[in-house]
Order: sequence, then C-alpha cells, then structure tokens
Amino acid sequence: MSTSFFGKYIVPEAAALRNTDSYRTIPPIDDGAAREILYGGTRLLNLASNNYLGLSAHPDLIEASAKALSRHGCSSGASRLVTGNFALAETLEAELATFKYQEAALVTGSGYAANLAVFSALADRHTVVFSDRLNHASILDGIALSGARLVRYRHLDMEHLEQLLGRERQVAKKIIVTDTVFSMDGDVAPLARLVELGKAHGALTVVDEAHATGILGRGRGLAAALGLSEDVDVHVGTLSKALGSQGGYVAGRLETIELLRNRGRSFVFSTALPPAVLGASLAALRHLKANPGEGARLMRMAKAIRDHLSGLGFDTMGSTTQIIPVACGRNRVALHAQALLRAEGLLVAAVRPPTVPQGTARLRLSLRADLTEDDLRRVRLGFSRLRVSFFP
Ligand SMILES: *Cc1c(COP(=O)(O)O)cnc(C)c1O
Repeated sequence: MSTSFFGKYIVPEAAALRNTDSYRTIPPIDDGAAREILYGGTRLLNLASNNYLGLSAHPDLIEASAKALSRHGCSSGASRLVTGNFALAETLEAELATFKYQEAALVTGSGYAANLAVFSALADRHTVVFSDRLNHASILDGIALSGARLVRYRHLDMEHLEQLLGRERQVAKKIIVTDTVFSMDGDVAPLARLVELGKAHGALTVVDEAHATGILGRGRGLAAALGLSEDVDVHVGTLSKALGSQGGYVAGRLETIELLRNRGRSFVFSTALPPAVLGASLAALRHLKANPGEGARLMRMAKAIRDHLSGLGFDTMGSTTQIIPVACGRNRVALHAQALLRAEGLLVAAVRPPTVPQGTARLRLSLRADLTEDDLRRVRLGFSRLRVSFFP
C-alpha cells in the first residue's frame, strides 16, 4: 500500500537526509539571474548564476521575446514532430548551425535534454562511451538511457583514455564525450589530443560546450577557439547559460541531426520550447555575433580574480575560465565559507557531493561580464577577509 511505502521508506529517508551536511534546500533567492539578488531580503552580489554575460535582462532579448509571445502565445502546444514547430525554431537552428560551423542543428528543451537526445539517438547497447570522470550528470544520464556501456577515464587524462580505447579495440561503436569547460572546476579539456584519439580509434567525438558557448572562441566555444570545429563530430550546448535564455542545442552533420530528430527521446517525446524562449534565444545568438569580444573581456576579468585568490593562498583547482572553484575539502568548511562571504555581501555557490567527488567540496564563483570595477573590489575584499577568518 502506498501509505506504508511512504511511512516505511520516504519518511525515514527524508529524516536521515535532513541530518547530513549534504542536505539541499532551495535558497530564499528572488531574481536569481540578476547581477544583484535578494537573499532572504538582503541584497547580495550574484556570483553563483550561469548568466555569464548578463544577457537574460538585455533589452534586445526582452523585446524579441515579448514580440514572439504576443504574436504566437505562451505555448508551442506539442512536440516539434506533431504541430509544435515555429519558423522561429527553424531560423534559430539554421543560425546556430552556421555559428558552430556545422551543417545542421537541433534545439531541445534544455541542455540536459540535448545530452539525452544525443545518446538515446546515437548510442545503443552495442556502444561503448568513453567519458571524462567529471563530465556533467546529463551526459551520464544520456548514456544510461541509451543502454550503452560507460567507461570513465581520469579527468583530462588522455593517456588513460588511449589505454582504455586500446582495451576496447574489438568494439565497433565507440563514442568519446567531454565537457569542454568543466562546470565545477572551470578547467578545459585537451581537445586537440582527444580529437586525434577519436580519429585513430574510429570513435565519434561529442563535446558539451555548455559553459564555453558565448565565452570562448568569440562566443562559438572551445572547439572553434582551437580551430577544431570540423574535427569534432557532435557539438552540444545550452541556451540557458551565457545566452541568457532557455533550451539546449546539438549541432553536427545533417545525418546526425536527422537521427536525433527521429530517435532523440527527449526531443521526440517532449513539447517544443515556447515562442517567447525561441525569440530570446535568437536575439541572444545575434547579440553574440555582433559582440564577439565580450567573452574575452570576461576571461581577463577572471584571470585577475584568480590571481588575487591564488595570491591569498586559495587553491583555484586548475581553473582557467570564468568558473573559479575555491577548494574547501569538507562540506562543512564550504558551507561555513559561503556563510562568511554572504556576510560580506557576496553570493557564491557551495558545491558538495554528489555534484563533485567526495571530499572535494568547494566554493564556486561564476564571474559575469556585467560586474563593475566596484563589484570586483567587493569580491577581492570579501575573499581577503575570508582568508583572515580561515587562516588567522
Ligand atoms: C548546465 C549543463 C548542462 C545542462 O544544461 P541546461 O540547459 O541547464 O539543462 C549540460 N551540460 C553541462 C556541461 C552543463 O554544465
């Protein structure tokens, strides 16, 4: 009976979870994408969202979104394959494909859904997927959904990848997948070597540019920055982070996208994105094309902050991007540091397992291009004070 399941399993599991330091609650935040947010009524500088370019409130996006909303209404009404299509979606896909130097693109409900679509369409139980140990959860969920066998290689370790590829020589269908900028570490995949290994072993290469699109390579991502756009087979990303909108995308060869449209379960069996979101995404993409230097400016800002943090003795864990972790180790330490920074007017994320490996809890700063000189002073001061309370 459901009441006995509830009483026997759900109530005790919830109670046990509540007593751990990995328990999660939704923070009392209003206006969470803005540069300054309200946290339980207090104004804090927002260093925790992925709205890296501050585009979510850009007048061009709002105008395009409002126009699409008033013209087409609130919902797309169905899956794209039924009646949920809009000319706006097709324009967005055509422009995304060009932006990524690919033949075609497909837009999905989220970046999460994009990875589910990729693996459910391209992998099956005869496939082995080689995945960086720190790849995003949506990649792992996509692999699980596909029934493929998962082989994890050590973070960024191309020798380990090569060794594992060698061990699976008899397997015909192989895929190598990596985040390009790692979401919790802010470091970057060794893409040139990965592509080389993919070619040598006949493996399909998939990159997830969720945190790189809009920033690296004049907004086009790490593959573009390294001149590898045509060498990488499948380009995944999100419209929900630097683009300040909502949705995910996959770009690649025509036949790849054709398979995704037919077999990508999160695409086929889910209602299409609404017009207002498509309008905002298209405006964001055009903004990136017209302002290709914003990402580079953000990277310079990030370098200055990283240098300040390293100078204070904090470990930024190999970050080279706008995502800056500060190693804490134990969950309690990360939560305590987060509270101290909140008292300094700064909101940073405290990231704990299972989002990151056990024992590697950390603060995670995500910098954004709309921070002012005064904001950056507040960040430096806040961490200087944190340093004093941590190592007095
Ligand atoms: C955030 C993220 C996603 C998911 O994108 P959403 O649009 O938020 O669903 C996928 N992959 C990576 C690497 C991410 O960081």
